[in-house]
Parts: sequence; C-alpha cells; structure tokens
Amino acid sequence: MRIGIGYDSHRLAKGRKLILGGVEIPFEKGLLGHSDGDVLCHAMTDSIIGALGIGDIGRHFPDTDKKWKDVSSIRMLSRIVKIAKAQGFKILWIDAVVIIEKPRLMPHIEKMKECIAKAGIPRNLINIKAKTNEGMGFIGKGQGTAAQAVCLLIKIKDKK
Ligand code: MG
Repeated sequence: MRIGIGYDSHRLAKGRKLILGGVEIPFEKGLLGHSDGDVLCHAMTDSIIGALGIGDIGRHFPDTDKKWKDVSSIRMLSRIVKIAKAQGFKILWIDAVVIIEKPRLMPHIEKMKECIAKAGIPRNLINIKAKTNEGMGFIGKGQGTAAQAVCLLIKIKDKK
C-alpha cells in the first residue's frame, strides 16, 4: 500500500471563474492559474503523484506548456489516475479539505464528487471537506484558497 499527500494554493482574483472539484461555483472572484486554478483537483492530483513516487504536479504539467493553459484540472487528475492504473495501482480512498473563507462550499460538494468521478475515482471513495480559516491569514482575508489531500493506493497487479 502507498499513501500520498498533496497541497495547493492559488490567488483569488476578479474576472476569473471559481472552479473547485471541476464545479463552477458562483462567486465574485475566481482562482488565478495557468490552468483553471482548481486547488482541490491539484491537491488530489499531487497526492496520487506522491503515492506513485513520480515527482510532483509541476513535473507532469509544467506551467510553461501551452497544452495545459486554461485546461480543466479534471483532465489533469484523469491523466494521473490513468498512470496509477497503468502501474497496477487501485485507489482505495482519497480525502481532501478545501480551505476557503467564502463562499460556502457545502451545497456543491456532492456535485464535485460527481465531477471527480469522471476522472476515474469512484465517488464512494472520495471525501471532501470545506473549512474557513477563521478570518486569519491570506485565506481569511479572501486573497486566496488552499486545499490538502491524502490518498491511499494499493498495488493489485504488476506493471505491464
Ligand atoms: Mg495549482
């Protein structure tokens, strides 16, 4: 079995869509990034990359690569899930927390799971939590958002 940890943060800015877990959430600001800035997908992606021991998200999706410009981060997650499967691993569980002051994410969480399931992780193996930062720091001031994820993988067959 392998475990992996992932972390990501992005700035919140006007004129951008707020996309978390592949879901567009109505809000006055969105996340700045080379891709759609989806911190939840990026943290999950990095946790799987960590469990596989294949570096980090920047190595797989460099922000100098035009191919990943403004792309849905669900596609990035999907690509790493495929690599995990190709290496003989099965995802047993993925747990994540998004830390954002506003808006409330609770009403969107089931839809996020549905979207992430499209990347190849069954929704009954995903847990997503939302927290505020109690008004403290860059998250509390609404300047940005962060996410953390951990995943557990099990090797079910040898690499082809
Ligand atoms: Mg990121």
